[in-house]
Amino acid sequence: MPLRLYNTLTQELEEFRPMRDNTVRMYTCGPTVYNYVHIGNLRTFTFQDILRRWLRYRGFELDHVMNITDVEDKIIANAAKQGKTLEEYTEVFTKAYFEDATALRLQRPEQIAKATDHIGEMVQAIEKLSEKGCTYTSDGSTYFRISTFPEYGKLSHNDFSGIRSGARVDMDEYEKADARDFVLWKGRKNEEPYWHTPLGDGRPGWHIECSAMAMKYLGETLDIHAGGIDLAFPHHENEIAQSESITGRPFARFWIHSEHLLIESQKMSKSLGNFYTLRDLLAKGYSPESVRYLLASVPHRKKLNFTFDGLNAANASIERLRNVESRLKAEKLETGIDETNRQQTAEALRRYEESLDDDLNTAEALGVVFEFVRDVNSALDEGRFREENRAGALKVLAAFDQIFDVLRPSHESHELDDAGVERYIEERAAAKKARDFARADEIRALLHDKGIVIEDTREGIRWKRK
Ligand code: AMP
Ligand code: ZN
Repeated sequence: MPLRLYNTLTQELEEFRPMRDNTVRMYTCGPTVYNYVHIGNLRTFTFQDILRRWLRYRGFELDHVMNITDVEDKIIANAAKQGKTLEEYTEVFTKAYFEDATALRLQRPEQIAKATDHIGEMVQAIEKLSEKGCTYTSDGSTYFRISTFPEYGKLSHNDFSGIRSGARVDMDEYEKADARDFVLWKGRKNEEPYWHTPLGDGRPGWHIECSAMAMKYLGETLDIHAGGIDLAFPHHENEIAQSESITGRPFARFWIHSEHLLIESQKMSKSLGNFYTLRDLLAKGYSPESVRYLLASVPHRKKLNFTFDGLNAANASIERLRNVESRLKAEKLETGIDETNRQQTAEALRRYEESLDDDLNTAEALGVVFEFVRDVNSALDEGRFREENRAGALKVLAAFDQIFDVLRPSHESHELDDAGVERYIEERAAAKKARDFARADEIRALLHDKGIVIEDTREGIRWKRK
């Protein structure tokens, strides 16, 4: 069976292969660097890593572009609050994102594109849209007139035919009920950062950022465009409207969306304050491999409910796998081959591959691996396992680890260094300022667990190690 992926656009499982040669041209929406990413965001990025790795396992080359959104509404507001320039503000969180990605062993996309490095391309894209009659301006801002794109709604499968032309929305994020002509270029406002361009002084809207960068690096039609499910509307719908109005061609063949990570049945999100960062979990003593395993273990189209029990179970699963791997490497075995085990090995590899070919069904793939581990352990315990079974069994584990990548322990220390403590203290101060007291208390408790005491004094915050 070939690789099949669920495509949000057609609402069907479709056989996947790249359109041209052997290279998969893929664009994924990267982090908005206005804060540390939380493990909900990281679920989406981990899914994209699993997808990358499986495409490679299946022999495809990758040209994967991920953007960094380093100019948008929330970033501008936060940077202004802290009296920092956009660049000063976003640099810290961009660096932090890549640290987290490295800890979680996320393969680095072939190309990373920062929005602020591509303002020229965005302006050109908007100019092309204007030439085609898809835009209008009002108060120094440029809008996309969605009535010029009759297919609007085809990704999120909504009928927007009744909406009033000329009603506008300036925000980057909004609900389906608020679908209106969306902003491409926001005219300069008060103290906000701006670029001086032929469209006037201002800054790009979020949606045009991705269209312009994706087409610059990957051409008019991508093989895959992916992101979290909350991006399907309006972000990806708007990307389609912009890109297809410019080129007259399909923008992406496969649209792949991953479901949310929940906590206590709610979407984990910055705005609800119900989140953990990877740093939080490492500071509590969990390993990055456990987090990676947990995030990868539920197939991307199912919601994943985060619990500490789940994280402990992930840790136990990794231990079990490492244990069988070291047995397989170390135990002295009698020569010959055990036929039952030989068959189980071939069957396990076949079923493992079949599960991942089936829309990346990681849960089923893990089920196959654990059944195999049980069989190997009992063959070893009962002395049935033979020397010539060794290589095949290790191959199954290698196929597992090529995708899941958790067998090699990370030896990094999870102790917080002084800079790490300072970062938490800054984040706590920002949370308090934003009246997010739950987060502020959580950080205090987390530092406490690490033996760090903080005192709010009149001169500011002081901290010491116990
Ligand atoms: P942002 O940094 O807000 O642009 O989000 C980065 C990525 O994380 C996007 O693809 C979002 O769809 C995704 N995302 C946000 N919250 C969650 C969540 N709770 N679970 C899974 N993915 C999420
Ligand atoms: Zn995007």
